[in-house]
Amino acid sequence: MRVLLVEDDELIAHGILAGLRAHGLTADGVTSAAQAEAALATLHCDVVILDLGLPDEDGMRLLPRLRAAGMALPVLVLSARDAVEDRVAGLRAGADDYLLKPFDLDELVARLHALLRRAAGRSVDIIERGPLRMDPSNGEVHLNGQLVDLSRRELALLAALLHASGRILSADQLKDSLYHFNEEIESNALSVHVHHLRRKLGTDLIETVRGLGYKISMVNQ
Ligand code: CA
Repeated sequence: MRVLLVEDDELIAHGILAGLRAHGLTADGVTSAAQAEAALATLHCDVVILDLGLPDEDGMRLLPRLRAAGMALPVLVLSARDAVEDRVAGLRAGADDYLLKPFDLDELVARLHALLRRAAGRSVDIIERGPLRMDPSNGEVHLNGQLVDLSRRELALLAALLHASGRILSADQLKDSLYHFNEEIESNALSVHVHHLRRKLGTDLIETVRGLGYKISMVNQ
């Protein structure tokens, strides 16, 4: 899961990004409404965390504008505003969830997973494909009932492919879900991760679609 965090308070943003990454998520931070719009126009991400008090535009104005422009990603609003009417206004403005500051990081992560699950139309978080079973909330992957040890990147790659349910994802899309903005990426990094996943989970699991990208095999499900 790749998260875009829109938060101008450096200390809070730093804490959230570090926490999300520690939970195995790929997370990028921007600090203004203008940067958020630019990032959303170019970046492949799955969920947005939006602070309302931004320096250039209130999140409550930004969000309806993004929605009107067709931005369909799930949005979790972070705010210190705790009045019920503020919460209702946030949800009316197009937020999918609302979390009050200060909050617990585990709760934030659980809510992000719930948002993605809802967006994907699933009521349970567990993804099963043949002998493979993945629980994105704790990052555990089982193959034929045996726990498989995966690196953070391998896990992110597998999650992206599984969420796509057999749709082809291009190398660029996959790299976006694996790396932050300014991370150095080796040119063969993606194929190395795919190679490791195949070694750990079976060669048939991930199909290479020549010239287009990769997809999860829908055979044997
Ligand atoms: Ca703020």
